[in-house]
Amino acid sequence: MTKFSDLKLDPKVLKAIAEAGYETPTPIQAQAIPHALEGRDVLGIAQTGTGKTASFTLPMITRLGRGRARARMPRSLVLAPTRELAAQVAENFDIYAKHTKLTKALLIGGVAFGEQDKLIDRGVDVLIATPGRLLDHFERGKLLLTGVEVMVVDEADRMLDMGFIPDIERIFKLTPFTRQTFFYSATMPPEIERLTNTFLQAPARVEVARQATASETIEQALVTIRPSRRDRAASEKRNCLRALIDAEGEKLTNAIVFCNRKVDVDTLTKSLRKYKYDAAAIHGDLDQSVRTRTLESFRAGGLKILVASDVAARGLDVPSVSHVFNFDVPTHPEDYIHRIGRTGRAGRAGKALTIATPADDKLIDAIESLIRKPLPRADGETIAAPATPVSEATPDTKPAATPESPPAARRTRSRKPAQDKAATTEPKPAPQPTEVEAAAPAQQPKRSPEPANRRPPQAQPQGHESRRGDRNDRRGPVVGMGDHVPDFLLREFRAG
Ligand code: AMP
Repeated sequence: MTKFSDLKLDPKVLKAIAEAGYETPTPIQAQAIPHALEGRDVLGIAQTGTGKTASFTLPMITRLGRGRARARMPRSLVLAPTRELAAQVAENFDIYAKHTKLTKALLIGGVAFGEQDKLIDRGVDVLIATPGRLLDHFERGKLLLTGVEVMVVDEADRMLDMGFIPDIERIFKLTPFTRQTFFYSATMPPEIERLTNTFLQAPARVEVARQATASETIEQALVTIRPSRRDRAASEKRNCLRALIDAEGEKLTNAIVFCNRKVDVDTLTKSLRKYKYDAAAIHGDLDQSVRTRTLESFRAGGLKILVASDVAARGLDVPSVSHVFNFDVPTHPEDYIHRIGRTGRAGRAGKALTIATPADDKLIDAIESLIRKPLPRADGETIAAPATPVSEATPDTKPAATPESPPAARRTRSRKPAQDKAATTEPKPAPQPTEVEAAAPAQQPKRSPEPANRRPPQAQPQGHESRRGDRNDRRGPVVGMGDHVPDFLLREFRAG
């Protein structure tokens, strides 16, 4: 196994990573760093969570250790698709470069130009930026890119999704032909392939995981509900989500909930908060200071549930996220991989639950063909109460009633669809059983032998009065299901 000391990194860098507690290089680091230190271009195909940031930052710091910064002419440039990712790279740089005299500037939107201008005027070794903000500075005549020795493009496939490719091409052309380029992408769609063919020179291609694979430590399940009416789908999905969260109990230490649209991020967050869940939203329309605060709080464990859009949460490095929920099935199958990759990081166990309705069948098919295996099915039919309170549709009003119908009513309503549901929740015949399938929960929910034991003590109803609008009363796996608990909610989750 490669050791950090085998890599010809600057001793100051080695000291910093030892202090950061890193013992051995991750596979992407072991593969990319030797090529990078030889001065070669590197094409890294790796997801976040693999240690890819250090795989370009460590050799970059080693290389920049020789030489000095000049005013307005950064010596290296790191482009990241979102402000959060750029800020994350900057944080990593600070850790790894702490024993060097290298300077950096972070150019991201939502921060005043003045401070950023001052830093650039003085001269920086490393400029970390989002493409739009970098070009703004360039167009204001504040910046020259002709001194760039090393350029990094991080999360290129996300840049593509966000429409940044023309900006990236332009920035490439503003930097010298002699630069060294590190180019990272989790997937290689044709447009990205074209870009690398144009701007990278004989790159060393390093790949750590097959395209579109998710960590084996993530337990996945698909929870399908059949909405009682089309216009109730959203509120029944919210009921379902709350039941799923409650069912996880103590095992859920923190979670990211993904929605496809920003407006739904807001609606869902309001709804969760109304039910007293510790939730906050993050999406691109929110003020930068709010986004930063929310993220910091989530990272520090001060916030339990982060409701997010894909772009805002892309690549976020929060080392221990216990759960990911897909409130909406992502429209791009690759996003499924990115989303669930927020949990199960660095070999930890994680759980990813996706809520779907029959209308999502095509999207689920696309995900399953991308990951090349069926998602284990769990029955959500009995979780989402058909009789959802009207107040749920307007989450800024107080809940008028508990969202659950009396158990008896619930059972009679849900029994029928549960039977003909097979058509929507039955997985397609799989070519071969896989490990995940073997662990899949039963298709048809069974009665729990001892559901009452599963309810945490604090979840015992305290009487009729206290049930109204009180989240605790809905805790525990049996909530919303009468005395019926699907197996998947009761199962212990296994890592690996
Ligand atoms: P990244 O894929 O760059 O987002 O990194 C994922 C996480 O792995 C970050 O929290 C890093 O601090 C951490 N990390 C990177 N390299 C190592 C290493 N060699 N040993 C332990 N942790 C690491």
